[in-house]
Amino acid sequence: MKLTFIGVGGAFTRKYYQSNMVLEIDGKRMLIDAGSDARHALHALGMWYQDLHAVYISHLHADHAGGMEWLSLATYFDPTFVDGSGAKRKLDLFLRSSLREDLWGMLKGGCGIQNIKTSLRTFFNLHSLAANRPFKFNGVSFRTVQTVHFVDDTEIVPSFGLFWTAANGKKVFLTTDTQFSPSSIQTFYNAADIIFHDCETSPFRTGVHAHYEDMKNLPAKLKARMWLYHYFDTPLPDAKADGFAGFVRQGQAFDLN
Ligand SMILES: [Zn+2]
Ligand SMILES: [Zn+2]
Repeated sequence: MKLTFIGVGGAFTRKYYQSNMVLEIDGKRMLIDAGSDARHALHALGMWYQDLHAVYISHLHADHAGGMEWLSLATYFDPTFVDGSGAKRKLDLFLRSSLREDLWGMLKGGCGIQNIKTSLRTFFNLHSLAANRPFKFNGVSFRTVQTVHFVDDTEIVPSFGLFWTAANGKKVFLTTDTQFSPSSIQTFYNAADIIFHDCETSPFRTGVHAHYEDMKNLPAKLKARMWLYHYFDTPLPDAKADGFAGFVRQGQAFDLN
């Protein structure tokens, strides 16, 4: 099992391809989020959609779902995107059911095709996940963890992070996007052996991500298990000196066997 960060930047990065990952389990690969930079990020590391078997979408910001139109149309129209028996392939698409309608709302204008009434199922094997129901990819069970990404008028708009047990028995928590809200995800902070956490490093605060200056105040035992990603293009602080495991670098892979 290997987790590769194909990008590590925030939504507005020019350098780091936003924050999407490829998780490989016994030769099968799941793209974790498909942001608008995802195709460039894959290409930069010598990968392409033919190398993928599934995609997971955490929430609908463009740095996490803006590459879905490309992924839909590229896989659909490529006559060589077939399995070993020559049958047309589709990627498995895992997402929480609350995201499904709005995702298609984002895509349907651009995913029109001659003579076909398209839907998400035209392009993907759709796995629409109920709350508190884990999903399996290549035999490994993943829990979707609701995080507090932001509050709109009155409602919490979540992202759905992932929590799973790696092949080496270590428990992994990937936040995707969350504001600094330790109490809401404390259970997963405590349970995880390794935490991949979005971390804003910009001089201004958007309020929708955990900011480095706030994260510095977390307990030392927790910071030691945290790798930071989803950062700004400006020079990074010395995360190791501040007690973190470090900043993930673009293309960095974690062997979880
Ligand atoms: Zn977001
Ligand atoms: Zn994001």
